[in-house]
Amino acid sequence: MSNKHADETADTLRPATHLEASREDPLVDTRQLIAPEIPRGVDRRSFLMRSAVGGAAAVLTGCSPSPAEKTAKAVETAAPPAAAAAPPLASDLYIVMREKGPVLTTVDEFYKVGPGPSSSHTIGPMRITYDFYQRATKLPADQLATATKLQVNLFGSLSATGKGHGTERAALAGLIGNEPATVDPKFLDSLRDKPDQVFPVKLGDKSIDVSLKDVIYDATKGDFKHPNTMTVKLLAGDKVLLEQEYYSVGGGFIEWKGYTPPKKNAPKYPFATMKELRGHADANKTTIGKIILANEMSISGKSEEEVYAWVDKVINAMVATVKSGLSMPEDDVLPGPIKLHSKAATVYKRAMDDKFQSDRGIGVLSAFALAASEENGRGHLVITAPTGGSAGVMPALVYGLLEVRKVPRQKVREGMLAGAAIGYLCKHHATLSAAEGGCQAEIGVASAMAAALTATVFDEEARVVENAAESALEHHLGMTCDPVAGYVQVPCIERCAFGAVKAWTAYAIASNEIASRHRVDLDATVAALAQTAKDMNSKYKETSEAGLALSVVLC
Ligand code: SF4
Repeated sequence: MSNKHADETADTLRPATHLEASREDPLVDTRQLIAPEIPRGVDRRSFLMRSAVGGAAAVLTGCSPSPAEKTAKAVETAAPPAAAAAPPLASDLYIVMREKGPVLTTVDEFYKVGPGPSSSHTIGPMRITYDFYQRATKLPADQLATATKLQVNLFGSLSATGKGHGTERAALAGLIGNEPATVDPKFLDSLRDKPDQVFPVKLGDKSIDVSLKDVIYDATKGDFKHPNTMTVKLLAGDKVLLEQEYYSVGGGFIEWKGYTPPKKNAPKYPFATMKELRGHADANKTTIGKIILANEMSISGKSEEEVYAWVDKVINAMVATVKSGLSMPEDDVLPGPIKLHSKAATVYKRAMDDKFQSDRGIGVLSAFALAASEENGRGHLVITAPTGGSAGVMPALVYGLLEVRKVPRQKVREGMLAGAAIGYLCKHHATLSAAEGGCQAEIGVASAMAAALTATVFDEEARVVENAAESALEHHLGMTCDPVAGYVQVPCIERCAFGAVKAWTAYAIASNEIASRHRVDLDATVAALAQTAKDMNSKYKETSEAGLALSVVLC
């Protein structure tokens, strides 16, 4: 009998058997139970997906929602109408226009110290309200004398996930004169614990009381120039004395309506692509780190000592954040509704006890990243590299290389500059903002930076540095941003550990292959990052409307 014939025979037998059985058990034949018209979101596939994901979540978390809760969740998570594509960024934003010229970013703009958990949702908004406060103080005294109110309105992603990030606390802190690098995280904690506090803001002779009530979570969707848009106003009754629209464009960088970038000097080695940057390094028989140092000096007018002094501050802050995270008690519970237990200290201890050296390495590197990232989750001071959410990746490698491997500090300094160059290129041609490009723009870029740092520390040639960075970025492409409950904890904290380990893997591959045979160049991968960011469904761009944010059941 041919197979075809056998199949046909089997097929013809199946209905009869089925119908026979149905005579005994009416529920075997369920065809009549299937409605001809399937309501949106309750089609079989969606239902099975939600049931499976919800069930898996329940098993994993030991949390078993009641049938009523499950039903509510199913209705709540019914497939929404086709999600609107993210509106394009306004063409007059500097982050869009700057693609045309050479890279002019400097390290002191790029690596910023500030409170976690998200550079775009905490450091950016705090810088914005601080900037507004400075502008307001310059208004004529007679106008200030009439002022009655300061008001902040948050839009887009700042409104959608700001509560989980503590955006309102960061915005209020800036309004009353705090800057990200110097704000005491305990002050931000006190705003969380005692939200009714009122603070006087001195404007000329006038003093205006402000509180968290003056920070308004406004529309999450609209025709915004950037997904992270906010406005700040100084009012005299209904009259607007001063109003400014701002954009937190990622990595703690900010712009405002009518923004013009500060004038900068020309870089000594102009580059807008990795190919050009590597060309400078090769032509001058030097490293990418040294090319970036020369550019820093020419763009900012700083001396080598001044540039390295800033880099040292950043390195020291990274080391401090890992140390501080490791020293927290095991099983400390992070703030927020997830009640996530910290694990950096435990992973570190157990990794150190591992009898296999290679496992020990992966374990401790993960623990370093968890430590810094948990500090970010606590809202403590972290360093944007390139963002708060990804603030565990670079520190893990810096700590491991400097404190464990004991490599010379000068190597790490150069590595920090090479890592920054990768971040500059991603910012220049793509984005560092999860609200624009998902997690590939945060952890992906951080991992690529860390890979470049590592390759530089081990004296690899420019091509290997590029290949390592490329590999690390390539294997994060498409990664979405879906923080559970809007808190930068799940998946963010573990994701930093994976980003750090991937950076090391990328370095290991790049330094062991024949560099010229690496088929993908960094510029192509950065272009893919930019395109993927544009194509990504807006639900996966830091809105907490999809992915894990939807499937994880909190109880
Ligand atoms: S999922 Fe990634 S991009 Fe989104 S908040 Fe977490 S770390 Fe940042």
